[in-house]
Amino acid sequence: MPERTLLMIPGPIELDAEVLAALARPQLGHMDPAVAQAFGRVLGRAREVFLAPGAQPFVVAGSGTLAMELAVANLVDPGERAVVVNTGYFSDRMATILERLGAKVESVGARAGEVPALDEVARAVDGAKLLTITHVDTSTGVRAPVEAVAKAARAAGALVVVDGVCSVGGEELRQEAWDVDVVLTASQKALGAPPGLAVVMVGARAMAAWRAKQHRVPSLYLDFGEWLPVMEAYERGAPVYFATPAVNLLLALDASLGQLVAEGMDARFARHARVARAFRAAWRAMGLTMLPAREEVAAHTLSAVYYPEGVDAGLVGRVRAEGVAIAGGLHPALKAKYFRVGHMGGTRAGEVLAVVGAVERALAASGWRGASVGEGVAAAARELGGGHTRT
Ligand SMILES: *Cc1c(COP(=O)(O)O)cnc(C)c1O
Repeated sequence: MPERTLLMIPGPIELDAEVLAALARPQLGHMDPAVAQAFGRVLGRAREVFLAPGAQPFVVAGSGTLAMELAVANLVDPGERAVVVNTGYFSDRMATILERLGAKVESVGARAGEVPALDEVARAVDGAKLLTITHVDTSTGVRAPVEAVAKAARAAGALVVVDGVCSVGGEELRQEAWDVDVVLTASQKALGAPPGLAVVMVGARAMAAWRAKQHRVPSLYLDFGEWLPVMEAYERGAPVYFATPAVNLLLALDASLGQLVAEGMDARFARHARVARAFRAAWRAMGLTMLPAREEVAAHTLSAVYYPEGVDAGLVGRVRAEGVAIAGGLHPALKAKYFRVGHMGGTRAGEVLAVVGAVERALAASGWRGASVGEGVAAAARELGGGHTRT
């Protein structure tokens, strides 16, 4: 048997048995009726997950970075202004992508662990073609206030693009109700499928902006014009070919989106919030400090936690020796100072307790004496509820 480690990094994540089984089916061709059906279902279910019944989904083989490029390459022309609400590593990446496309980019930042001030965003977005915002920045565990920022950007007439790679399927995100033009994600994070699919949900206003674009999209693979007939055809159940879809991944995504829809988005958002509260209670009880500066900006899909005094990045390896894979830091200025635990997808009470217990034991093995093993687990268990107190 290969070694089995509980995978609790911020993506890829643990896969459900039904999703794994979908991957193990005999290979099907991309024009097979069963694949056409599954692809069509993926597109319909994606609208339910993004809470965007009227939007056009694009599901294309590639990672989240491809989703980022797809989203903006079809909207900006060289010389146009774009505002990046910058909360960390992936916002920097979005700025780079926009610069490559020839946009004039203005980043509105904040110190690590915080979100930019709304009035600064409102000032910067005046006269811009679009604004991008990372819903959950995976490098800091900070959740940005998408609804409020989208409102300010819409008031200025700018298109709103949300990088939801670490949020869609976990954090509350209501694309149509919040009037967000484009939301993008990838298969391997809170959607609970393997890596390899970019998912971009495009609202009517953004589709119109794409049609009105002055310059042709420079890359063939990135062009909505190539993909739109493919998406429409698969949704009709009559496949057409542009570039071979990632058949097996689509079957897996079909299974995972089916589970998301069955759980219900509101229930799913609430479960992620409950799991995040339990982790926060544990870190607090252990005397650890989180990277997000305030509870209100702490993500529900991952925790970013500073190493305590005297403990370094060797902790990640010690946690792995306890059977749990967590991640080190990613923010360029701070990366040696904190670790990250992903808690998205199917995470439930049992995994919370396993992860906290592994971190406590690894801290003890690192020689840290700031808390006793068990204090974090007890705090998480209390927060999760459902237990009883000895009488
Ligand atoms: C993971 C991630 C990405 C990049 O996705 P890849 O699949 O690694 O290309 C982009 N944005 C955010 C917020 C992410 O968490």
